[in-house]
Amino acid sequence: MVNNKVGFRKGDKVLIIIGEDKGKKGKIVHIFPKKMEVIVEGVNFLKKHSKPTQKVPQGGIVKQEGALHTSNIRLICNKCNKPTAIRREKIKEGKRVRVCKKCREIIDKV
Ligand SMILES: [Zn+2]
Repeated sequence: MVNNKVGFRKGDKVLIIIGEDKGKKGKIVHIFPKKMEVIVEGVNFLKKHSKPTQKVPQGGIVKQEGALHTSNIRLICNKCNKPTAIRREKIKEGKRVRVCKKCREIIDKV
C-alpha cells in the first residue's frame, strides 16, 4: 500500500537533497505518515546518549538514524537511476501505481 499523503513507501530508494547528507542515497526503512517523515538507512545519523544497559554498563553515545522530512528527499527511479518526480496512474481494478515522470517506468510492483 502506498501512503498517498507521504508518497513514499518502505524500500524506496531516495536521494537526500537538503542538509548535511545532501547527495547521499539510501533506502527508506521506516515511515511516519503523520509527521511526513521517513528514516533512510545509513543517512542522517544523530548521536544519542544511551542509558547504561547490561551490555554497555557505562552507557554512552549511540549513533542512530534520525527522521527526515519528506520534502528533503526525492525518489530515485530504478530505471533512470536519477531523482525523479512521480505521477500516479490508475491501472486495472482501480489500483494506483507510481510512475516515473521521465521514463514512465512503473515504480510500484503490482
Ligand atoms: Zn525513470
